[in-house]
Amino acid sequence: MFEQSISTLAQKLRNKDISSVELTRLFLARIAKLDPQLNSYITVSEQRALEQAAAADALIQNGQGTSLTGIPIAHKDLFCTEGTLTTCGSKMLNNFIPPYESTVTSRIQQAGAVMLGKTNMDEFAMGSSNENSFYGAVKNPWNLDMVPGGSSGGSAAAIAAGLAVAATGTDTGGSIRQPASFCGITGLKPTYGRVSRFGMIAYASSLDQGGPMAKSAEDCAHLMQAMAGFDEKDSTSAETPVEDYLANLNAPLTGLKIGLPKEYFGEGLDPQVADIIMAAVKEFEKLGATVKEISLPNLQLSIPSYYVIAPSEASSNLSRFDGVRFGHRCDDPKDLLDMYKRSRAEGFGSEVQKRIMVGTYALSEGYYDAYYLKAQKIRRLIKEDFVKALNEVDVIMGPVAPTTAFGLGSKTSDPVAMYLEDIYTLSVNLAGIPAMSVPAGFANGMPVGLQVMGNYFAEAKLLNVAHQYQQHTDWHLQTPTMAKGA
Ligand code: GLN
Repeated sequence: MFEQSISTLAQKLRNKDISSVELTRLFLARIAKLDPQLNSYITVSEQRALEQAAAADALIQNGQGTSLTGIPIAHKDLFCTEGTLTTCGSKMLNNFIPPYESTVTSRIQQAGAVMLGKTNMDEFAMGSSNENSFYGAVKNPWNLDMVPGGSSGGSAAAIAAGLAVAATGTDTGGSIRQPASFCGITGLKPTYGRVSRFGMIAYASSLDQGGPMAKSAEDCAHLMQAMAGFDEKDSTSAETPVEDYLANLNAPLTGLKIGLPKEYFGEGLDPQVADIIMAAVKEFEKLGATVKEISLPNLQLSIPSYYVIAPSEASSNLSRFDGVRFGHRCDDPKDLLDMYKRSRAEGFGSEVQKRIMVGTYALSEGYYDAYYLKAQKIRRLIKEDFVKALNEVDVIMGPVAPTTAFGLGSKTSDPVAMYLEDIYTLSVNLAGIPAMSVPAGFANGMPVGLQVMGNYFAEAKLLNVAHQYQQHTDWHLQTPTMAKGA
């Protein structure tokens, strides 16, 4: 039951083969049994889940609801959920119970989905391995010695292990796609502005974007349909009408023009990962696509540009956690300054503190032009590279990450090696285009994701491309051994 798709489960709920309460209990039991090994959840909201499931059953009984009604899913712990602890993976927020609901979780709730709980993540979404969580590292269900990727590693691990049917994630520089790739699931980072950021705890506001994570493109389409759309509470929310993401999943791919950026296949890419990506591209050729080499010449500059812009925005966003307006407050402060200093030093972990310092430095007078402004100019060049390429091709394909999931602790002492993991994902956020990670094979015994990037608001196209691939391959249907016995 835990391996089934949203469409199949929705049908079973409607046929009364199973009730939502039964399905929810099944997932809660799996979490109780398997999550001690994985640590993919920070909070399991059992009572809320069972209440929502009972409400969903009543709706289904009356012939109402959507395809998500009664489906147990999880939310990354940076979406504010009214009355349910929301930590953002940080000690700073370890007792924060939001008085309101984020737009994303509220829309998914309105569609009738059941919230099982809140998933583990790198603190304030800063990281590529989920080792920066105050609540401990998450383990990869395919090999418990490996990282699940980050920052949405809890969501990815939970889905891969069958501890949620689907989940939300957020992607500032790859945090949906890279953990999806490392855990063998499907994830979509939408166009910037497609999904509301209201109630999503901010990391870097000009890059952050929420999106769906699930076993398949079709399941992502179900979730995306509920999540996407204009929101007057988010000033950067796009007014562009939302497409029907399910309607075109079966459109044939004949004539699809695929661009392969030569910079995505250079030094640093694991040759086994490269072979898997090329095999996936061959599969698309069989489906009628044509392939062309393209160039995204400024790819290398995405790391320095991102790692100036993201920390700069973070340093500004995180100033609200001062122990007064928001966040942890130290005991017995001597005076105001002591309270600020100690509250922030105690509440934030080391990676977050490092980024606040980098960002504050880059924004300071005298350095602003040299760092922040320059990074913004590079950002424009990176965007122009994509615009030019996407005039010539329909989608761009390449790896999500240069390697498969790496060992827990193997990169924690080398921040540059960790930042290099993001080379293929950051530029997509800098440009604001949508992109997916689609399971495409295994190397070193671990899953490999194919990245599919598209033009602004081309989510329906990306889902169609991924779905067609998944109709002809079964990589997305593989289940890790640890998930099977339970
Ligand atoms: N790994 C990147 C970072 O640490 C991206 C994280 C994200 O997308 N939230 O900033």
